[in-house]
Amino acid sequence: MADATTAEQEIHEPEAHSFQAEARTLLDLMINSLYTHREVFLRELISNASDALDKLRVRALTDESLLGDQKGLEVVITADPEAKTLTISDTGIGMTKDELRDNLGTIARSGSREFAKQLKEQQGEGSAAQLIGQFGVGFYSAFLVASKVEVVTRAAGSDEAFRWVSTADGTYTIEPATRAARGTDLVLHLRDDQEEYLSTYRLRSLITKYSDFVGHPIKLTEERTEGEGDEQTKTTTQEVVNKGKALWTRAKDDITDEQYEEFYKHLSHDFEAPLARTHFKVEGRQMFTGLLYLPKRPPFDLNFPKSRSGLRLYVKRVFVMDDCEQLIPEYLRFVRGVIDSDDLPLNVSREILQQEQAVEGIKRQVVKKTLDMLDALADERPEDYAAFWKDFGTVLKEGLQADWKNKDRLAKLLRFESSAQDGLTSLAEYVERMPEGQKAIYYITGPSKEFVAKSPHIEGLKAKGYEVLYFVDAIDEWVAESVREFEGKPLSSAMKGELKLEDEGKEGEDAEAKQEEETPTEWKQLVQAVKDTLGERVKDVKMSARLTESPVCLVAGEMDMGANLERILRAANRPVEGGKRVFELNGDHPLIQNLDKLAKEDKHRLKFKEWVEVLFDQALLTEGSPLADPSSFAQRMTALLLDASQKELG
Ligand code: ADP
Repeated sequence: MADATTAEQEIHEPEAHSFQAEARTLLDLMINSLYTHREVFLRELISNASDALDKLRVRALTDESLLGDQKGLEVVITADPEAKTLTISDTGIGMTKDELRDNLGTIARSGSREFAKQLKEQQGEGSAAQLIGQFGVGFYSAFLVASKVEVVTRAAGSDEAFRWVSTADGTYTIEPATRAARGTDLVLHLRDDQEEYLSTYRLRSLITKYSDFVGHPIKLTEERTEGEGDEQTKTTTQEVVNKGKALWTRAKDDITDEQYEEFYKHLSHDFEAPLARTHFKVEGRQMFTGLLYLPKRPPFDLNFPKSRSGLRLYVKRVFVMDDCEQLIPEYLRFVRGVIDSDDLPLNVSREILQQEQAVEGIKRQVVKKTLDMLDALADERPEDYAAFWKDFGTVLKEGLQADWKNKDRLAKLLRFESSAQDGLTSLAEYVERMPEGQKAIYYITGPSKEFVAKSPHIEGLKAKGYEVLYFVDAIDEWVAESVREFEGKPLSSAMKGELKLEDEGKEGEDAEAKQEEETPTEWKQLVQAVKDTLGERVKDVKMSARLTESPVCLVAGEMDMGANLERILRAANRPVEGGKRVFELNGDHPLIQNLDKLAKEDKHRLKFKEWVEVLFDQALLTEGSPLADPSSFAQRMTALLLDASQKELG
């Protein structure tokens, strides 16, 4: 263990450590891909300092002794042109020795594995920048401008300080140090070509650009030399550079797009601009201000069991907590932003939030405003919405089950591919395209667009000019179940139940009655013979209204689990008992017509049975189900091909 050091070592020699492998990769990747955006390091490090001050303030609410003699909460930035260092100091929470190692030597979040995996999958420059967007830039951005970084830190409430040093070569050291009081100094030893960051003029403009709204004073140290020769005197002054006014408290008209964007980056550590935002004030029983953003790309932990929720809670402009999952439902976990309450108590904890009635009210509004933002995006920028949908649609769909009160609003936001056109369509657009006489919204579920587009189940619908929606996301099985109808039109599975195509065009009550009718007399014998052959394996055998090109297919009962859901559950290792389905025959198909002739002659009984078996297996294959006995299927196919090839050769 690197930490099992002797007492002597602890005094004389810094302990050497290696970066966690993923952290090292991230570091290299970042240095190589962000070299055109080096200046963001200052935003990232000021964000970290500001977070550390926020954390201290929250902790001090319950333990005032943590503040000690040093009441001031501030960030101080000092350039030293002689030493060529830039130092960012804060009087925040500081770090213990263990925290230093855990926070700065690893990717602290649970995603390090995932990160390494994605990194292997996506190669190349552009994707690297994207990936960094997903993981955040953070502390490592110091190495964009520094060849060596020193962190001297003392945790609040501790009298020990430590120095962490690294030159980004894959290792770092930790040793005891001294620091007068709690807080952290980041000393950046600037690379030779990065000396511009020694200029107070440059620093001032960067702070104004990126960090103006940070809620703690950011002071810039300036040295002035006055007088000549021996008379020269040096004076050091510190001026507060940022306005420090929380961005969300300003009037919308006074905030530029750029400022909104910078604030988002400060909050989320995202490298990219957000996709959309909404800034609002809620009056009434619960007064609060909200500023919410949609990220352009999914954070790496979007589908982790415990992904971070992206809201920060403030009470009257004072930071209270991060990742405030009490204020936003899980299916909106990709939203980033700030909620600033006028009414909650400052010392509110997660536990209290869970019980607070008021919180439900805030949450309801947050959902409403987020859905408004999504509506606006979908209406005004459909292409951007489509991109959003691709990455976040599956998560948003969780809301159909979790938040049934907003089911109708969420249904409007759904997008699917369909048989009618390329690209995505909404249910509203589908309904608009419905030809007269069509009563239901048809969909087919399956593993992929390519798979369902060729499915026999939709042949009849397509031939009739009806559009079929492709439900090809696993969660779509549940979407169909929870949406049920849209604008008064029921959702109907092309793979389930009786298809009432013939009757849809006609008005009148006899349509229903006709549907219940039995198999037409001319097909009775065939249907019975097929039933006898398949026995218990099918629920029933019927002549089909849904097939035009294929000879057969399998159809689930209206209330039954379909083949696709069976497949999904099997893939999730859940025990599934394959449901029985109705075997449908296409009476217009020459093969079925020939089969009918065979059924009527005793001498063909054996052949007939063989062919029904092959057709049944075929139907299983086209719905994506496994065959009960694949070798028998192969043997039958071989026999048939042998027959056919002999005929071919005369
Ligand atoms: P992130 O801030 O996104 O978690 P970083 O890589 O920027 O990731 O920082 C990692 C962690 O190091 C932070 O979460 C925080 O715990 C700690 N840290 C960074 N800077 C400071 C600081 N100035 N004071 C105290 N802790 C800090």
